Amino acid sequence: MTSLDADVPMGANGKTVIPLLLGAHVSAAGGVPDAPPRAAAIGATTMQLFTKMATRWAERDCEGDECSSFRDRLAATSVAASMAHDSYLINLASPDHVLRARSIAAFGAELRRCHALGLDFLVSHPGNFMDDRDSGLARNASAIEEALSANPGPTVLCLETTAGAGTVLGATFEELAAIIERVDPAHRSRVGLCLDSCHVYSAGYDLVRDYDGVITRLSDAMGLDRLRVLHLNDSKTPFASRKDRHELIAEGSLGEVPFRRIMTDERLARVPKVIETPKLDDATATDTRMLERLRGYAIG
Ligand SMILES: [Zn+2]
Ligand SMILES: [Zn+2]
Repeated sequence: MTSLDADVPMGANGKTVIPLLLGAHVSAAGGVPDAPPRAAAIGATTMQLFTKMATRWAERDCEGDECSSFRDRLAATSVAASMAHDSYLINLASPDHVLRARSIAAFGAELRRCHALGLDFLVSHPGNFMDDRDSGLARNASAIEEALSANPGPTVLCLETTAGAGTVLGATFEELAAIIERVDPAHRSRVGLCLDSCHVYSAGYDLVRDYDGVITRLSDAMGLDRLRVLHLNDSKTPFASRKDRHELIAEGSLGEVPFRRIMTDERLARVPKVIETPKLDDATATDTRMLERLRGYAIG
């Protein structure tokens, strides 16, 4: 684990300079130890990866050489905050007993791999309620509690804001807060929020015309301290579309303005920022270009 508060330098004017935590979701093709060098190649100071095939149920543990190799390679980079994104198949809100048990087992395995690899955060989408919303919220929270209590460790679970398609939970800050509040206080400090700019814009939070209003609504719903990760993505679809289709930064329906606001917002300065934008035909070149664009916004 890395301490994000260690050795914070002071600027020439005596103001604290907070190091920019900016990076990307990087491929773990070839094995998780191959991910940190990809983060280094794009100049990232934070990174996200999948610790297994995200679209398959097959589970695995991270053990021995794989863990030590990953940790050694990560330590050789400038990455100061690291995270995994969990499998898309997991549905912790499902009313189906078989899918629920399978999801809790898979989610537990995600947590164990994060602990073994020393990752700071596990980003996870709330589930689909299928029958009724309130029962879904209760099931989602109790499944989180069950998995956290069975798998103690330092990794913080970050529930990700969703675009709100179908019966998915987590498209409003209040609903995410309700899930977090239902988790037993003994485990609640291990639960935070990941805000995805594309998802919240698609869910009806107008980051373009009312940026401060959106941040105020988040603050009112759960407090900004819960916000532990930002996913910076533009959107291929219009405002309030309820669709989840990521676009290159400043090249979609959000455009440049909200990203300039985010990159210069002191309230968000310590929150790791990760892009999950299209990689086009050259992941290293495209991600490098996107991170340079965002860094340019940070310096005005
Ligand atoms: Zn996600
Ligand atoms: Zn995301």
